[in-house]
Amino acid sequence: MNVEVKPEAVAPRLLQETPSIASIGVVGAGQMGNGIAHVCALAGMPVVLVDVKPDALERAVATVARNMDRQLHRNAITAEEKAAALARITTASDYAACGDCDMVIEAATEKEDVKRAIYKALTPHLKPSCMLASNTSSISITRLGASTDRPEKFIGMHFMNPVPVMKLVEVIRGIATDEPTFQATQALALRLHKITAVSEDFPAFIVNRILVPMINEAVYALYEGVGSISAIDSAMRLGANHPMGPLELADFIGLDTCLSIMQVLYEGLSDSKYRPCPLLVKYVEAGWLGRKTGRGFYDYTQSPPRPTR
Ligand code: NAD
Repeated sequence: MNVEVKPEAVAPRLLQETPSIASIGVVGAGQMGNGIAHVCALAGMPVVLVDVKPDALERAVATVARNMDRQLHRNAITAEEKAAALARITTASDYAACGDCDMVIEAATEKEDVKRAIYKALTPHLKPSCMLASNTSSISITRLGASTDRPEKFIGMHFMNPVPVMKLVEVIRGIATDEPTFQATQALALRLHKITAVSEDFPAFIVNRILVPMINEAVYALYEGVGSISAIDSAMRLGANHPMGPLELADFIGLDTCLSIMQVLYEGLSDSKYRPCPLLVKYVEAGWLGRKTGRGFYDYTQSPPRPTR
């Protein structure tokens, strides 16, 4: 028997057109924002990089140029590609600069109130069709999206650090995210030569749900005197074949970001196993945030970096 199946009965959502992305805005020019601007510009898209701190913008552009130089020396890109990509990046301290963007990726500080304040100030400047992605490491995409004027065009696009090197992007749909936004995000990741893993919208998603509690446990091991900083990092590098020890990795991620992720897990899952280690809290209170402040579990003013305990 021949049954005529209407295409929309098979896959109604796939028939919706995938929005194309010609230009990108990146809000937050820290270590993640500069990496996201880097890969988008190399992929041929004009990028507006926005930060409240003018010095962060200057540092970001210098970092992108330096990292592209590394790629140039490895013959991964040509001098022409580098020059063209750098020319595609403009900087601004005003969200109005994102007015023509098809997608804005927010990569600002991992604090929910900071992100909400950004969306409130940013969205009036955006085209109605503009999609908004957050690079948050842990915060609910549904909740962040609901705080905007476009929850259906809001999505999680979680890049890994350093962005130009790491292959993975986690894609997280909020409950309201529509299919075209999801498809456009997948297509964007592909265009950036990334591989995606789709995660449900649970606290810290997949990578950080597993990774950051391990880092927190390493800080507990240090706090309880199970081992020194060097012993803990060597143990995990040589014993578990991790390319970096957990405390080195914590410094690389940023201890403030690690603490925020543990707090989101602790509060979001209401389970005491996610209690942030008091020693991690103390380091953050001291402003010892890792590599980005020159001091965390290691002191980066020394060569080689010296353990701080
Ligand atoms: P960072 O501290 O290096 O940079 C944050 C930047 O946001 C700073 O330059 C700050 O000036 C800027 N900012 C703060 N408020 C702003 C505002 N109102 N408008 C515009 N810019 C503002 O932090 P990061 O490590 O780049 O992390 C950024 C985001 O990426 C966070 O959500 C974090 O969880 C996520 N993330 C971080 C990593 C990592 O390894 N560090 C990995 C994946 C995702």
